[in-house]
Amino acid sequence: MPAEFTNEPVLDFSQESYRKKQSEALALIQSQLGREYDLIIGRENLKSGKTFKSINPSRKSEVVGIFQSATAEQAVHAIETASATFEQWKRLPAQQRADLLFRVASLLREKRFESNAWMIVETGKTWVEADADTAEAIDFCEFYAREALRYAGPQPLTRLKTEDSELRYIPLGVGAVIPPWNFPCAILVGMTTAAFVTGNTVVLKPSSDSPAIAAFFVRTLQEAGLPPGVVNFLTGSGSTVGNIIVEHPKVRFIAFTGSKEVGLHINMEAARPRPGQIWIKRVVAEMGGKDFIIVDEDADLDAALTGVLASAFGFQGQKCSACSRAIVHEKVYPAFVQKLAEKAKEIKVGPAMDASSHMGPVINENAMKSILQYIEIGKTEGKLVAGGGPAEGEGFYVKPTVIVDVDPRSRIAREEIFGPVLAVIKAKDLDDAIRIANDSEYGLTGSVYCTSREHIRRAKDECHVGNLYINRKCTGALVGVHPFGGFNMSGTDSKAGGRDYLLLFTQAKAISEKIG
Ligand code: NDP
Repeated sequence: MPAEFTNEPVLDFSQESYRKKQSEALALIQSQLGREYDLIIGRENLKSGKTFKSINPSRKSEVVGIFQSATAEQAVHAIETASATFEQWKRLPAQQRADLLFRVASLLREKRFESNAWMIVETGKTWVEADADTAEAIDFCEFYAREALRYAGPQPLTRLKTEDSELRYIPLGVGAVIPPWNFPCAILVGMTTAAFVTGNTVVLKPSSDSPAIAAFFVRTLQEAGLPPGVVNFLTGSGSTVGNIIVEHPKVRFIAFTGSKEVGLHINMEAARPRPGQIWIKRVVAEMGGKDFIIVDEDADLDAALTGVLASAFGFQGQKCSACSRAIVHEKVYPAFVQKLAEKAKEIKVGPAMDASSHMGPVINENAMKSILQYIEIGKTEGKLVAGGGPAEGEGFYVKPTVIVDVDPRSRIAREEIFGPVLAVIKAKDLDDAIRIANDSEYGLTGSVYCTSREHIRRAKDECHVGNLYINRKCTGALVGVHPFGGFNMSGTDSKAGGRDYLLLFTQAKAISEKIG
């Protein structure tokens, strides 16, 4: 048995040796930018005749890679290939699949700086954020490999003297794996590896904003020895190839992470049986958030300030778990708001490739436009105290923005903005703060800063979110420590990185043999 799971530590870039290695990896990536990538379906590398570009959001003239817009026929070919491969892959002993995943983990560890570099260049993650993403991807591989072994072992059942009984977790079939761009390594790796380590095969359709990172991971799978056809790499737009793979009758399940709108659409389409389909499709959908941090009257204000700033502006506020609502007790509100505005103005926005940038660009032009529109709405719904518009540079830069005195029912307090925009809301007391926090269609993460044991108890009981934190930031869930998934419109609460997750990729077969 492998040693007990522990989290991969993140790198400390104040150390010169790490800074040097990261710079070297960025230089290496630089020489590979702009190349064209193929679809990978089974043993074939295919072109489609139509391509799209992935660009560096820190420097928008820089093309990261050119990718195929798969045709409808190629999407179906990928599903047929995954379906044929499933017949062999499902028979491989769990130990062999798990060993392969352990190999993937160690390769990712070896190629850590390269993985970080692709994320820095393709999604505008700062060095620290990119490294945390790679570390989480390694964690998913290590954790799910162990979990696959646990599920493959004997399962506890009530015994009869007259029967020999067992429960086997067997795979489902072909899965459509559709990740977002914001955790382009960790979430993609987590959903893909959970699917194949349990014996399923996959059609992987990465986000059109982060296909180069996906291609890097698919190369890593090949190096680790994953047989062709187990993970098929299908690039193209969600609304075309994404729809095709969701609807196809041979797809048994869909693992999706992304926006509420797309998640609900997928759920609806997957529910409709197509001719020839012989199962109810399973949908694992993790979606948006409108996450909060409550700052109570007796909170350690410095700690709360650090937590709010990290949660609101880390990766430019583009985390599903990002704090977009700070709900602050009226007694500490004036002092807290003043410090918050001062600190937000100090955050350095710049190219993600530059190690000294605290915040990089947002992902693309549409995102920037939408965020700037929300800022304009916010200016009418509250008082702007920091940021409030684009920041200088050749990319999609938005200033960290704080809007105070926001009504809890206003749009910027209710809609997911997915950018560096924080709405600050005043609460009368803890009751009021919890009521405001829970008054949302989402329910992903939340955090409460307070010292009273009674208030902590109440917060634990009453805040309705899938991931609740006390006296720490509301981002940065760790595999195994904080199984992750949300309530309400935030998704199906699949709890990625937890002990229940692999169940979603299997079905249980109960077998009993009469004895004696
Ligand atoms: P989107 O919903 O826009 O896209 C997610 C994926 O779905 C992409 O691969 C996209 O492809 C694909 N897609 C789009 N339309 C369809 C369709 N009709 N059928 C099938 N697939 C489709 O989300 P983003 O990538 O912009 O990610 C940000 C969102 O993800 C935020 O709302 C965030 O909160 C959420 N998120 C949730 C997490 C959670 O655990 N709850 C974690 C991380 C993010 P393409 O790029 O080609 O359009």
